[in-house]
Amino acid sequence: MILVSACLLGQKVKYDGGDNLQELLKEAEKEGRFVPVCPETFGGLQRPREPVEIQNGVGEDVLENRAAVQSPKGKDCTAEFLRGAEIVFETAKKHNARVAILKESSPSCGVNTVYDGTFSHTKIKGQGVCAALLKRNGIQLYSEKDITKELLTKLIEEDKREN
Ligand code: SF4
Repeated sequence: MILVSACLLGQKVKYDGGDNLQELLKEAEKEGRFVPVCPETFGGLQRPREPVEIQNGVGEDVLENRAAVQSPKGKDCTAEFLRGAEIVFETAKKHNARVAILKESSPSCGVNTVYDGTFSHTKIKGQGVCAALLKRNGIQLYSEKDITKELLTKLIEEDKREN
């Protein structure tokens, strides 16, 4: 199975109560190979809430207790982010998922970039907390920006052969 950020499939799980619907992914969901995941929801965070960013690092630093996840007012959500990432990883193991398609630049799901912690829309290289944990454990990551119809078809066909 393939893990997919739930917001990309239209689930209203974003911090502000919205979604990040990607029609290509929503259409492909009908194939029955996707497992929607939202690490922030799994970690117990409610909606709507303030935005948060990783402070002084990227997801890998949060996993190593070198960085925190906080709102502009300093509300700390690090524990919820770590818990959510663990639950997503457990979900991956349960479903034998080797691939994840995650929302780019999110502090949980970012695959290639995350925001830099200044709440100024500035991005830096690195993964979000959940993406970093999945990558560390050998799960192949793609963001919605990587996805084309051809790549999606290939990933789904490979998944059907393996599972
Ligand atoms: S944690 Fe990931 S799945 Fe959940 S709303 Fe944020 S980007 Fe989407």
